[in-house]
Amino acid sequence: MSHLPVTALASVRRAGTLAFVAILVLALTSACAPVTDPVPGPVQQTGIPVPPRSWMGPLNHGQNLSAVAGAYPMKLASSTVSGTWAYVDGATSFNAAMDRQLLAALDGYTGGAYQPAVDTVPATRPDTSRLTLFGSLVHAGGKFLIGRLQTTPPAGHAPGGTIETTVVYDSGSGRTVPSAELVVPADRAPLTALTWSAFGENFTTSLSLTDLSFDKAGNLTVTVPVAAPLLSDTGFRTVTLPAAIVRPWLTVLGRRVQDAAALPWRPPTRDSKALRHINCDIVACATLSYDDGPAQATTPRLLRMLEHAGAGATFFVVGGAANYSPNIVKAEHDAGFTVGNHTWSHPDLRRLSPAAVADQISRTNKAIQAATGEAPTFMRPPYGGVNALVRRAVGMPIIYWSVDSLDWLTRDPAKYIPTIMSQVSPGAIILEHDIHATTVDHQLQLIAELQRAGYNLVTVPQLFAGITLQPGQMYSCRGHGRGCTPSPGR
Ligand code: ZN
Repeated sequence: MSHLPVTALASVRRAGTLAFVAILVLALTSACAPVTDPVPGPVQQTGIPVPPRSWMGPLNHGQNLSAVAGAYPMKLASSTVSGTWAYVDGATSFNAAMDRQLLAALDGYTGGAYQPAVDTVPATRPDTSRLTLFGSLVHAGGKFLIGRLQTTPPAGHAPGGTIETTVVYDSGSGRTVPSAELVVPADRAPLTALTWSAFGENFTTSLSLTDLSFDKAGNLTVTVPVAAPLLSDTGFRTVTLPAAIVRPWLTVLGRRVQDAAALPWRPPTRDSKALRHINCDIVACATLSYDDGPAQATTPRLLRMLEHAGAGATFFVVGGAANYSPNIVKAEHDAGFTVGNHTWSHPDLRRLSPAAVADQISRTNKAIQAATGEAPTFMRPPYGGVNALVRRAVGMPIIYWSVDSLDWLTRDPAKYIPTIMSQVSPGAIILEHDIHATTVDHQLQLIAELQRAGYNLVTVPQLFAGITLQPGQMYSCRGHGRGCTPSPGR
């Protein structure tokens, strides 16, 4: 038997009161039509084990995550935390709901605001000694998606036990709510009774109905934690309750999700790749930034490398060069990278009048907008040269860096790559120059080293997501490091 039998209990509603007058157990298998089996009681469905710690693993209703359009995986691995989960491209409220739960678990475990970390020592400790976060997408039908997050503290860590919840995302309204909202509050009691019965138990103990979902047939799946001494086993048990029986207990939302259960998933509009959701308060991020281009001889090659490696990056282009090679600036933008303003002719802005500074900025913004269709939203001053007058005159957020590779000076990867690797930390912005072949030639090696160290390589807007960048303010990195900007409330 590769498929678990579905325990189905028939109930009868009579004069508004619910009475279980008969219990029929239908043993369904994947290959057979429903069979009525005169078993004299419900079949106990023993616990479905905790889902495998692989985001690609089979979902509990046989769906494959890769079939959920727009889903992409995230991973967190350190000596204290192990996590895998998925976001869904464009599903802003769903991703935010996942983040709230992840951060609550991480903050609760660390006893404060969690800070993303990378371990210099590879995490080889067993999962039982780490906080384990496991997120999965368990159902997608029509405009509705149901995602689950399981958090398991390390063995012996009080209070112990795995917590698991599901949330329901509606790509039509853009809302995400706890799955408890699928069921009418007054009908939680009969749902609890039915669930206990389906487990083959006579308990009336209330159940935490925080993990509800549907299968493709519209049956309601209820997953609950069970613990000794109430039952002989501990862990989670899942029961699948027939669509028709649970329907009277469903809210309007619950019925809409049920009605759409068999439909193909209708994902929301995707975000542009440069803005795709990633949470740099949870995972370690770093930003590759390339100044002084575009250059015909080197930039197109760098773009291909970045795309090949799946790395985000931000280009601070010189307006004159952008005006000369708008096709490259457009290629940067179209490939999902962000483009910032690096002035028109690369002067030291401290030596210019405010009017001349403003002219350097506005001419460059126009050139970039002409090339990409979008005006840049931040700038970087040549030579890092700023003072109070310049900050006021540029009228845009100023993106600095926290790691200076000095690639232009050494022109030697044996020097600038170790410089970067020794200085990078979560939230860093790395400064390089895409006009030097000695830089571009070795970016695949650098990217591999950063990714192997645990960094997610993101664009400037991704790095500062959740932080409103202010004109004239300087931003060097994200987080609580020296000179960095933490996100609000963390
Ligand atoms: Zn420069």
